[in-house]
Amino acid sequence: MSNSVKIAWYGKHFGEEPPLVGDQGAGTIFFTGCNLRCVYCQNYQISQQGLGKKFSIKELADIMLTLAREGAVNIDLVSPTIWAKEIKQAIVMAQEQGLKLPIIWNSNAYESLDVIESMKGLVDIYLPDFKYGSDSLAFKYSGVKDYLVKAKAAVGAMLLQVGHLQLDKNKIAIKGLMVRHLVLPNNAENSFMALNCLKEINQDIRVNLMSQYAPVFKAKNFPELRRNVAPEEYEKVFHYMLKLGLDQGWAQAPGSHSVFLPDFTKENPFG
Ligand code: SF4
Repeated sequence: MSNSVKIAWYGKHFGEEPPLVGDQGAGTIFFTGCNLRCVYCQNYQISQQGLGKKFSIKELADIMLTLAREGAVNIDLVSPTIWAKEIKQAIVMAQEQGLKLPIIWNSNAYESLDVIESMKGLVDIYLPDFKYGSDSLAFKYSGVKDYLVKAKAAVGAMLLQVGHLQLDKNKIAIKGLMVRHLVLPNNAENSFMALNCLKEINQDIRVNLMSQYAPVFKAKNFPELRRNVAPEEYEKVFHYMLKLGLDQGWAQAPGSHSVFLPDFTKENPFG
C-alpha cells in the first residue's frame, strides 16, 4: 500500500442519478487509474493516461470533510478500486473527525470479494456499472478474461452487504445497491445477457439503464462502436428489461444525459 492516492478532480457534481444528487450535489472524487481498459472510456485521460495529482491519505480525508461542509449529500468515490486500501484509511480518518455522509463506491463491478468485504461498515451505497453479459466482449473491449464471474459475485456480495437501495424522506439515497448498465451500439445481445445476470442475482435490483455512450478514444478501431446508440436499440433493451421484471429503476431518454424514473406502466415511457 502506498501512502497517497491520485485524484483527477473533486467537487460537487450534478451528473449522477437524481437520488444521488438532490439539490446540493454529490461530493464526487474522481480517482486516477482503473482496473479495466475500456476502449470506449469517456474518461480515458483519467483512467488510462494518468491524468491527476497525488494527495496523501490525510488530504483525501480533508477533501471528504470539505465536500461535506460545502453541503454535498454524499461522498461519491469514482473508480476507487485500485486505491481501496488507501481510501479505506481516509474514510476511517474522516469519520473519526465527524464525517457522517453516505459513502458511495462508484465502480465498474470488476471487484474482488476481499475489497467488498474490507468496505463493510464503511461504504453505504454500491454503484457498480455492470458492463458485460459476455466474457468474450469484456475481453475484446476491456481487456479482462473473467469479467462475468467476478462481476456477478461482486454485485451479489454488495447486495448482501447493503441491501436494496433505500431513500430518505427527501428522496436522497442513504444506503443500498444501485446498478448501472450502459447500452453499447450494435450490442443489444450483450445488454440482454447482462440484464439476465442481474435478474439472476436478484429480481428487485434497481437498475439505471444508460444511453449516453459516445464513440471516443479507441472506439474508432471497432466498426460497431463508431456511433452513438440508436433510440430504437436503447428502447429494445429497455423493453427487454421491463419484460424481465427489472422495473424499479431509472432510464435515460435516448440521446439525453438526464436520468429519470420512467412510468413503467406506459407502453412507451419515452413517447
Ligand atoms: S471501467 Fe469505466 S473508468 Fe474504467 S476504463 Fe472502463 S469506462 Fe473507463
